[in-house]
Amino acid sequence: MAAHLAGIAIERRQSEERIQFMAHHDALTGLPNRLLFDARVASALQEARQNDQWVALAFLDLDNFKLINDSLGHHSGDQLLRIVADRMRTCVRRSDMIVRVGGDEFIIMLTGLPAEREVVLTRFEKIRSAIAAPMMLSGHSLQITCSMGVVCYPEHGATAVELLANADSAMYRAKEIGRNNLQLFSAEMAAKAHEKLLRHEELRDAVARQEFVLHYQPQLNLETGRMFAAESLVRWQHPERGMVSPGEFIPLAEETGLIVAIGDWVLNEACRQNKAWQDAGLPPIVISVNVSARQFREQDWVCRVSAALRESGLEARYLELELTESLIMQDVPAAIATMHELEALGVQLAIDDFGTGYSSLSALKSFPVSRLKIDRSFVQDIPADEDDMAITGAIISLAQKLHMRVIAEGVETQAQLDFLRISGCDEIQGYFFSKPLRAEAFEGMFAAEPGSVATAGSEAA
Ligand code: C2E
Ligand code: MG
Ligand code: MG
Repeated sequence: MAAHLAGIAIERRQSEERIQFMAHHDALTGLPNRLLFDARVASALQEARQNDQWVALAFLDLDNFKLINDSLGHHSGDQLLRIVADRMRTCVRRSDMIVRVGGDEFIIMLTGLPAEREVVLTRFEKIRSAIAAPMMLSGHSLQITCSMGVVCYPEHGATAVELLANADSAMYRAKEIGRNNLQLFSAEMAAKAHEKLLRHEELRDAVARQEFVLHYQPQLNLETGRMFAAESLVRWQHPERGMVSPGEFIPLAEETGLIVAIGDWVLNEACRQNKAWQDAGLPPIVISVNVSARQFREQDWVCRVSAALRESGLEARYLELELTESLIMQDVPAAIATMHELEALGVQLAIDDFGTGYSSLSALKSFPVSRLKIDRSFVQDIPADEDDMAITGAIISLAQKLHMRVIAEGVETQAQLDFLRISGCDEIQGYFFSKPLRAEAFEGMFAAEPGSVATAGSEAA
């Protein structure tokens, strides 16, 4: 009886221990999880303080893990994470800690270190090269690299929260300069992070105050010499800095998610404006709206588009959405599904900056896209650059074979226009014909002298 009871007690203890373990460890790799890290980090810092030692923390993110996960499948992805975890384990001591905090994100905590940067960096570099050693996965030999942001306690922060925030900035920097490297946090990074925070707040306020305005750049049909469409291009009317171009704030807006609100405003404003022009009796044109990947991924994106059309009263065929190759390639099946939903609404779709991304040509034929926009970088050096001419010519014939229309962006000179015309390009957009204009100027141009549009086109011919 006693033995039986003891057995039950032991079993219960074991299962309690197992539950404890599971609560504090990641099931896939067996590494400690964030919960356990949070429970341990404060005492590790305290101990270091008492012993005049350093604690070093690193944020580690695998480079291009998603690519491997998507191409070789989740099973291989899991296996890769286990291999990486094992390799890291062999590089650290029992008193150190490796934590899996997300899909391919880890925190490494090294304790009991002398107050020497070189020592710290050498330890982390060892981990980095262990991870980067070739591995066999599903019959493929591959290599995975990682980016690390490193901080040292007490130099780079007094609390775990502060240290991790700084390690994050350092990792961000590591990614920024091309991944596959390690960055030690610096005061300069802190200043940059602070600056970025301020810019984020400023942009958020700009969204709340609606400080944006759309400019419109005409698109010309070379055959008829007529303007048939315009691209809406957003600008930020900054109270002090004046007109800020999208290149200066769209990247931040994308990173912070503010692009969703900005993009919504752009979409609604472009539809409203186009309908207002039609209501004023101007010849109907198509309005193009740039869509960022972040917007496109929103769950209710298609609903938002249809709401913008409904609220403005604009017919769907007068709206075109410009998607980029990289946006589509992030998740081809999902993108195709969304594109079909948009097509069903009656909206037109174009691929912007074509040629700069990594479109799979075999996938291209299954996209419900009605036109390709040749990127400005190919047009720019025509006729001086033979390669650019060859690429531009190839894109034009590709579009023709796939029964898509094709427009060249950034056309600035007669010589470019001549080449495009000879190569069979149907449509152009660029400073040669017109810069992007404020709504009033755009309207003035096309209301006062609709014929001038045709003249400019035929003169160009
Ligand atoms: P994009 O969609 O490729 O737009 C074309 C850019 O080329 C515009 O710059 C336009 O002003 C410029 N451009 C047009 N013709 C010429 C030319 O002949 N020569 C030269 N040198 N440039 C020309 P912009 O307005 O600064 O916009 C830059 C980018 O910002 C756009 O590239 C687009 O990717 C993004 N963007 C603009 N508006 C929006 C928006 O509402 N939403 C999103 N997500 N992105 C936007
Ligand atoms: Mg565009
Ligand atoms: Mg473009």
